Amino acid sequence: MATALITGSSRGIGAAIALRLAKDGFDIALNDLSEDSFKDNDIISKIKEAGVNCEYFCADVSDYAQCEAMVKAITEKMGGLDVLVNNAGITKDGLMARMSEDQYDMVIKVNQKSVFNMMKLCGNIFMKQRHGKIVNLASVAGLYGNPGQINYSASKAAIIGMTKTIAKELGSRNVNVNAVAPGFIKTPMTDKLTDKQREAMLSLIAMKRYGMPEEIAGVVSFLVSDDASYVTGQVIEISGGLSM
Ligand code: NAP
Repeated sequence: MATALITGSSRGIGAAIALRLAKDGFDIALNDLSEDSFKDNDIISKIKEAGVNCEYFCADVSDYAQCEAMVKAITEKMGGLDVLVNNAGITKDGLMARMSEDQYDMVIKVNQKSVFNMMKLCGNIFMKQRHGKIVNLASVAGLYGNPGQINYSASKAAIIGMTKTIAKELGSRNVNVNAVAPGFIKTPMTDKLTDKQREAMLSLIAMKRYGMPEEIAGVVSFLVSDDASYVTGQVIEISGGLSM
């Protein structure tokens, strides 16, 4: 059975992607920073109900050495790796005038450097085995910018460039690399926004509602399926028509 690794998958969009790929028949490698994220959390039992294998691997994906150890542990414990979903991400919002250097660097390290770490390590495996699928979580903030998110939008715009570059580097080895760019999706990340920020966002969305994590998971499911075997280097916006 094929194995999918989803980073930052104890909750939110990552957990929804993990559950959906389990229902599609993938064995699932979950990842998060610490074991605590998986305590009092029913994600593992829900995935196992789909009849697939599921293990969790703790690592900070912004740290190359921890990523290396995690990928080694996954291939040893699960027998291989076929799909990588780079989902882990953080926000540390603030207008540029008030943003500290640490706030900027931290978001770049967690959101962007992690994608280099994981694509490099998993890409090596995928190149050798002549198959693999990578999906990176970008954002509409990376496509259009968003006030208060110079760090976050920089990291997400970079992910789009990285996706296209690695799609070109790995295409001849039968490895597909794509990105999704969610709009406003209801998760713990967006629960932090103020009512004013929410209302401003909603007024721009053609469908006049927020997205749900499962609506991101459905598109990722397509991108890692055989139906998307000739799709690579693409960015699919999932925003309820935010950009029109
Ligand atoms: P979330 O609810 O905050 O979940 C993010 C997950 O990533 C958490 O489980 C978190 O773990 C984990 N994580 C954070 N830093 C990590 C690290 N260094 N190593 C490993 N795991 C780490 O976020 P979400 O809303 O589901 O977002 C998921 C992805 O979609 C992110 O890349 C985000 O930028 C992107 N996105 C979200 C939206 C949206 O509207 N929600 C829109 C566009 C794009 P802890 O629990 O330990 O913190």
